[in-house]
Amino acid sequence: MNYKNIPTPIYISEEKKLKENLELLAYVQEKSAAKILLALKGFAFKASFPLMRAYLHGCCASGLHEARLAHEAFQREVHTYAPAFKDKEIDEIIHISNHLVFNSFSQWQKYKERALGKVSCGLRVNPEVSAAPTNLYNPCSTHSRLGITKKEFRDDLLDGIEGLHFHALCEQDADALELVLKGFEEKFGHLIPHMKWINFGGGHHITRNDYDVEKLIMIIKEFKARYDVEVYLEPGEAVGWQTGVLVATVLDIVHNGIDIAILDTSAEAHMPDTLIMPYRAEVRGAGKAEEKAYTYRLGGNTCLAGDIMGDYSFDAPLKIGDKIIFEDQIHYTIVKNTTFNGIKLPDLAIEREDGSLEIVKKFGYDDYQRRL
Ligand SMILES: *Cc1c(COP(=O)(O)O)cnc(C)c1O
Repeated sequence: MNYKNIPTPIYISEEKKLKENLELLAYVQEKSAAKILLALKGFAFKASFPLMRAYLHGCCASGLHEARLAHEAFQREVHTYAPAFKDKEIDEIIHISNHLVFNSFSQWQKYKERALGKVSCGLRVNPEVSAAPTNLYNPCSTHSRLGITKKEFRDDLLDGIEGLHFHALCEQDADALELVLKGFEEKFGHLIPHMKWINFGGGHHITRNDYDVEKLIMIIKEFKARYDVEVYLEPGEAVGWQTGVLVATVLDIVHNGIDIAILDTSAEAHMPDTLIMPYRAEVRGAGKAEEKAYTYRLGGNTCLAGDIMGDYSFDAPLKIGDKIIFEDQIHYTIVKNTTFNGIKLPDLAIEREDGSLEIVKKFGYDDYQRRL
């Protein structure tokens, strides 16, 4: 793929790589008999829904808007959970959802009559076991509002409940699932025989190179053998993992003790998790600082001092007009990006399997001013 003449900034979904991820997820479904949903929170690349719907059972949504997108555009099963639902929205959510997951007994009691008979209802529990890397992304941290703890659970209010849901992982291995599942079964195992389905949430890093896929399959198969229930997984990141890039252009090179390249993108606005998690995005063809002959700090085109991607080294000096390709910038980016500081949102494109580039969405001034 020649990125030389493409408009930037732009996120490009690489269809071949996405298909490889989907094929691996389809293999997990086939071998384990679990059903896999796309978590729209992490990867709502709408132009690829037609491809994804051929492999995945549907979407998990976190409220009305994601549920609508799943219903209208993905057009398979819709599983909706929210920390709390609103009176004004709940009927529409019920109407378009297959599964509805409540975060508390008060929400379940409040909406039970409206939901029963129309949607399969479940409860999110907190297994209180987790090894998520950072508290921002740990649903089981102390005083977490997400999911019902064993202490708050009411075995007497389960009439009508068909499923249990937990979500406790973030970019984690099958080992971590094993631990969480153990905690879940210790606390809530006595309820599972009364359920039709158990949802293992997201955070399974299934498509990462060294993820133990066979172990995941074994864990699910053994669980299903113990309880005879449907098992759902709802990964977001694992679907879009390593399947797309953010391409930017060098606008200027300035010097202040070091060489600094200013790009027509933004870490803050277009790659938010690099600052929040934080982590360093790989740049195609570049190394760590000083690894190659020419080192530059890469920075964004906003006025935020910390809008910096990091220090990278290149084989040749950077020139104004050069393209910089950030790897793995398609999940948790387009769903989170902003027009902070008026910066242009990156366009969206698909690199088809034959290498051709199709621009599917363009953004400009209107997207900025409309929300203000
Ligand atoms: C975020 C989230 C997911 C997806 O998590 P990934 O880490 O992207 O796999 C799934 N289910 C729930 C309830 C979530 O909050």
